[in-house]
Amino acid sequence: MVSESKANFKKKVWEWAEKLEVSVEFITLRSMRNKWASCSSTGRLTFDSSLLELPPHLQDYAIVHELLHLQIPNHGRLWQCLMEAHLGDYQSYEKELKEIVRDRMKSKN
Ligand SMILES: [Zn+2]
Repeated sequence: MVSESKANFKKKVWEWAEKLEVSVEFITLRSMRNKWASCSSTGRLTFDSSLLELPPHLQDYAIVHELLHLQIPNHGRLWQCLMEAHLGDYQSYEKELKEIVRDRMKSKN
């Protein structure tokens, strides 16, 4: 069951990568301690496996956020425009995700 949802998540990442026209080399899903995703300039993406438990719109937010970083390394105007173009009200998703992450950290301590 878990490996199946991992496969689905990765499929979603590949679909977004195609849509956004970014080249992805490799996708990893594993437990990350204090962030939900990271990327390298060579197109390697790592996502926190806890993203699998989140609702689809927050998964999309995390995926698009990170994929855009393969083209734009910061959160500047261009990045913001693209986020809005693909996700709409991405800032509310960002807030939602941050709250979930914060609650998770709290319950761990
Ligand atoms: Zn970022």
